[in-house]
Amino acid sequence: MSIKNNIAQIKQVLPPSCRLIVVSKTQPIEKITEAYETGHRIFGENKVQELCSKYEVLPTDIEWHLIGHLQTNKVKYVAPFVHLIHAVDSLKLLEEINKQAQKVNRIIKCLLQIHIAEEETKFGLSENELPEIIKGINTLTHVEVVGLMGMATFTENTEQIRKEFIHLKTIFNNLAQSHLPKNMVMKELSMGMSGDYKIAIEEGSTLVRIGTSIFGERHYQ
Ligand SMILES: *Cc1c(COP(=O)(O)O)cnc(C)c1O
Repeated sequence: MSIKNNIAQIKQVLPPSCRLIVVSKTQPIEKITEAYETGHRIFGENKVQELCSKYEVLPTDIEWHLIGHLQTNKVKYVAPFVHLIHAVDSLKLLEEINKQAQKVNRIIKCLLQIHIAEEETKFGLSENELPEIIKGINTLTHVEVVGLMGMATFTENTEQIRKEFIHLKTIFNNLAQSHLPKNMVMKELSMGMSGDYKIAIEEGSTLVRIGTSIFGERHYQ
């Protein structure tokens, strides 16, 4: 299968409410260009340095999403151009994004990453940390929190994956119905990767992040 066919196949099963983020981490420029030439414009990377070097050489109409964990000292590198930061999991990070966004005169869109998986290793906020961080969002003039992001447990057990996505959607719905700061709105729900995006779509995802099903297995150096 070609990159072009893989993208077309995934887009065929996406409802209008859900967009595809082509996850291009570890992929060379030629392969990303192949995906770009299908007309696709939304790409995701998980490392700041890799994101910046690709941003520099690829066309400027690409909408770049940072999907991986972000360290505060690296925010300044992505602030001038990043479209959406998916994995915000502390107020400290949000405050740094706000500061750097202000410097480049932008309002940067972010998602709060919620820990929904069973594994201990995954990043993310727990539900009971939310009230505290939400309280702090009010005063941040240069960030807009537009939704939530989550990663399900890496397992074959589809019922467990579904349960975790339903959990995230429930938190999303509860927040949507509560009183939020003016710069916070529940619009985007980033969930679903190659192994579980079909379940994620059924459970209300608005952004699926897919790499392997498009490019094949990744080769890390
Ligand atoms: C790598 C990555 C993906 C894509 O995973 P695939 O299984 O290759 O589709 C999605 N989300 C995040 C946060 C990632 O780091």
